[in-house]
Amino acid sequence: MHFTGRTWRPPYEAHSVIVQATSGCTYRKCRFCNLYQGERFRMSPMEEFEEDLAEIKHYQPYARRIFWTGANPFAMSYENLRLRARTVRDYLIQCQTMAMFASIRDIRDKEVWQLKKLRAAGVNGLSIGTESGDDATLALAGKGYTAQDIVKQCRKLEEAGIEYYFVYMTGLAGRGGGYRNAKNSARLFSWLQPYFISVDSLTLFPGTELYRMEQQGVFTPAGEKERLQELQVFIQNLQIRTHLFANSSSNVYPVTAYLPRDREAVIGELQDVLDTTSEEKMAEYRRNLKTLG
Ligand code: SF4
Repeated sequence: MHFTGRTWRPPYEAHSVIVQATSGCTYRKCRFCNLYQGERFRMSPMEEFEEDLAEIKHYQPYARRIFWTGANPFAMSYENLRLRARTVRDYLIQCQTMAMFASIRDIRDKEVWQLKKLRAAGVNGLSIGTESGDDATLALAGKGYTAQDIVKQCRKLEEAGIEYYFVYMTGLAGRGGGYRNAKNSARLFSWLQPYFISVDSLTLFPGTELYRMEQQGVFTPAGEKERLQELQVFIQNLQIRTHLFANSSSNVYPVTAYLPRDREAVIGELQDVLDTTSEEKMAEYRRNLKTLG
């Protein structure tokens, strides 16, 4: 298999077969991110992609879900994505779904009819690192799009029948901004239909712009308790039926919920943690974190 770049897949794709379609990120400007620093975006040449598919066919001929690696393979053109999706099915006859990371920017240049064709070719399950639905936080994080962009592009996915997942990041709005971020993000996400939302929490790593901003005193990260309160507000205000996974390692206290069913129970669980765990103990957990997720 040709894994040349950093290979990063979300925890919920653990059962998917992984193939490298791209490596690196086309953007690399998110201020909290150090994942692909120094790595150029690269599309795997078709010969390489096909060699990998042949290898997968040998070991897992009945693979049903394939995850394409890279920070945003969906940045490829419609034609390229469609060609690759059809090629996957040449090798893996039972493949139902090809999932991948996508940015809101990557959807902009695709028409709904093209998205429908991609869906028909098996592209489904886009993980979108929105991080927030609050304009001030999106700008602070350097995401390069607005809340309105999120709505506009995700409605296109919905029209095409492409399932997508959001990422929300607590703490990203900085100290004192969590409540606003949670309220505005929950309201925006509730206009849409993310099949599930995974929640991470900001950790500042050397080499990132937000880390530099903190060193210069122009960004103050939210405390750990504020983040848990932010998560409570987010859950309280999400008015859609969706799964929520706040259980990656960046969450000091991992929780999962199916909303609205588990709303009160999980808010209560978080309150217990707030009432019984010190800020210092939570901060110590974050100091020991080694990766973004
Ligand atoms: S968060 Fe995603 S889109 Fe932003 S720089 Fe990192 S890999 Fe690229």
